[in-house]
Amino acid sequence: MTIVAHTIAEVRQAVSKWRASGKTIGLVPTMGYLHEGHKSLIDQAVRENDCVVVSIFVNPTQFGPGEDLESYPRDFNHDLALCEDAQASLVFHPTPEELYYPDRSTTIHMAVLSEELCGKSRPIHFDGVCLVVAKLFNIVTPDRAYFGQKDAQQLLIIKRMVRDLNFPIDIIGCPIIREADSLAKSSRNTYLSERERAAAVVLSQAIAYGQKLASSGESNPSAITQAMRDILAKEPLADVEYVEIVSQENIKPIVGRINEPILCALAVRIGKTRLIDNFFFNPND
Ligand code: AMP
Repeated sequence: MTIVAHTIAEVRQAVSKWRASGKTIGLVPTMGYLHEGHKSLIDQAVRENDCVVVSIFVNPTQFGPGEDLESYPRDFNHDLALCEDAQASLVFHPTPEELYYPDRSTTIHMAVLSEELCGKSRPIHFDGVCLVVAKLFNIVTPDRAYFGQKDAQQLLIIKRMVRDLNFPIDIIGCPIIREADSLAKSSRNTYLSERERAAAVVLSQAIAYGQKLASSGESNPSAITQAMRDILAKEPLADVEYVEIVSQENIKPIVGRINEPILCALAVRIGKTRLIDNFFFNPND
């Protein structure tokens, strides 16, 4: 039986019972509208911990003006059924009022790592993510927390925040789960029309090609990103926001040759929908 908690007090009560009996706790933070990508995180958390908390919260502080906060898809009954099926111990589904004081005055600012890639068009996004994730860490006090590589910049930023603020939590990165045609699964894929959905496959095609070039020894970042742009340019519905190769260490563009672990990431608008995809590559492997 999965417990449903709407308040911080209910979560703390369950957590202290688990702690008293020596249980380990895994946390999977999500914004809901759960799919197989989220389920893979929950499954891994269930394998590696005695108890698993899934949070479902469309976090207002990570949405900028004009973004899709109001229209973000929501289906709590479906999400709960998925969590029950995955044998999560508790689903935390707070209201924004439960999590945020109206006069809250504490913020988190992620410098440097939030400046490139998605941070350029979403300047407050990662500070909002860090704030809500830090709060969830303090509420749930997990041993491990699970994040998808789908949001690679977010994963690297959360690892940095945990290091910098000394959270005693292991951050576990999980692989990208894809549709049959290899489009990365995303709650936002639901915004796509049939024509747009067909066009969206170009993102993963560009990623696969970039990955192939990097693994076959191409070490010039702009040769890789240009080849990826050429693929994206063939799809008339694809409006490219960025295609970048950055250091996994500081998320700054690689200058010269690739000789350290990199993140190659892209963001593309298909119609009104902004989609992202990426790969990690380590030339020393
Ligand atoms: P979201 O609900 O979009 O905030 O995502 C919650 C968590 O699920 C984040 O850590 C995401 O990176 C992860 N996630 C979302 N989509 C996928 C996917 N296709 N594969 C793996 N993880 C994912």
